[in-house]
Amino acid sequence: MSKVVSAAALAANMLGKVRSPAIPYKLGGRSDKGTDCINLIGWAMQELGGRDVPRGSNETWNKGMAWRGTLSEAKRLGKLVPGTILYIDYAKPAGGSDGTPGKMDHAAVYVGPGHGIKTPDGKAGDVVHASASRGGVYPSTLANAYTHAAWLTGVDYGTTDVTEPSIQSPSQSALQSQAKTGPRLHKLIFVNNECYKAGKTIVPKGLMVHSTGANNPMLKRYVGPDDGLLGKNQYGNHWNRPMDRKVCVHAFIGKLEDGSIATYQTLPWNHRAWHCGSGPKGSGNDSHVSFEICEDGLTNADYFRGVFNEAVALCAYLCDMFKLDPMKDGVIIGHYEGHQRGIAGNHADPRHWFTKFGESMDSFRAAVKRSLDGGVVIPAPAPEPVAPTPAPPTPDGSGHEVYTVVKGDTLWRIAANKLGSGARYTEIVELNALTTEAIYAGQKLKIPNTIRA
Ligand SMILES: [Zn+2]
Repeated sequence: MSKVVSAAALAANMLGKVRSPAIPYKLGGRSDKGTDCINLIGWAMQELGGRDVPRGSNETWNKGMAWRGTLSEAKRLGKLVPGTILYIDYAKPAGGSDGTPGKMDHAAVYVGPGHGIKTPDGKAGDVVHASASRGGVYPSTLANAYTHAAWLTGVDYGTTDVTEPSIQSPSQSALQSQAKTGPRLHKLIFVNNECYKAGKTIVPKGLMVHSTGANNPMLKRYVGPDDGLLGKNQYGNHWNRPMDRKVCVHAFIGKLEDGSIATYQTLPWNHRAWHCGSGPKGSGNDSHVSFEICEDGLTNADYFRGVFNEAVALCAYLCDMFKLDPMKDGVIIGHYEGHQRGIAGNHADPRHWFTKFGESMDSFRAAVKRSLDGGVVIPAPAPEPVAPTPAPPTPDGSGHEVYTVVKGDTLWRIAANKLGSGARYTEIVELNALTTEAIYAGQKLKIPNTIRA
């Protein structure tokens, strides 16, 4: 029989888990030998004699909460107290496109300010979490990308008001403040690859962009086993297994089974990957975080634009995480540039693909910089010049107004202007069968009929 745990006791237990050296990161662990984000919380509940917590972040979010909402709602409703569970939904920073949260990727516990705990970057911490990228249990801050908050069932948060209807639509301002489209990040760590088992870490000094060199845009070719989104790899030849070649990267960008574009993180970001071989000046494996973009037949402009934008979003995210300057020499490089610099084997990726669509590593780096500086990434379309002003609306054959995207547009803004509500941007996504929310100047979008059916 489990007892009700006080929120303050949960927060205090978390503070006790901040140690030096840090408790290491270990998937599924609930002990001093290692733990992960949700099991850190489950472990605390266990120690406090409380209710058991499901072993997955998203599962706990779906099944283990007395109240759930966005972080801004929690603040507004007075529900952000020491012991409140924080979540990051990397794919949908301000809630799902229909107002319901997407899949939760990371959980943490708010402990409140003033405890003297410091993040690895030296900031005053008010959150404690088990971080895969940092490799252990560390303080964090509310400012660190947390999007949602929740009250764990079986914890007393000092009020009886825990039955409020869950999941409210995020406010318009919350969504509007989502100026930057982040990567659609999922995680499936390659624990069965020898590279993961080698267990070496690096201090990331840059990012290396690869493309696979094989005509198969499906993530399931490389990432497995199937998590319900990837689809099943019938040959079982994904990379999460002992392989005869020493290859492993930190992430893949490609298509899910449903055709949408996503990123899968496959190693902890600070893990030493096997992605580029070496040259006379050493190996980029010792300095660069790496990812592969799954190539298709290299003729599909929509797919290229989708994965290019996703790669830009991923690099902006990683530059932010590791405080990297995307424009600094040698920070973001293609594999072929690694070879030119003497730290990688001789490959042509991803230049052979980028150039087919008017892009280069220079334009890529500039797009990452724009993304970091704020605003949705809007690469100029190639080869058409950017229209300086919106073209007048023209109906297409189906009677829909066709709108031409201009620089600075976001789907939200277009929906707000054309449909009277930014939240209706999902209708534009649907009508145009968009696989990414990143849009580009010159793109033609059908606008749904203004009057809702
Ligand atoms: Zn490569």
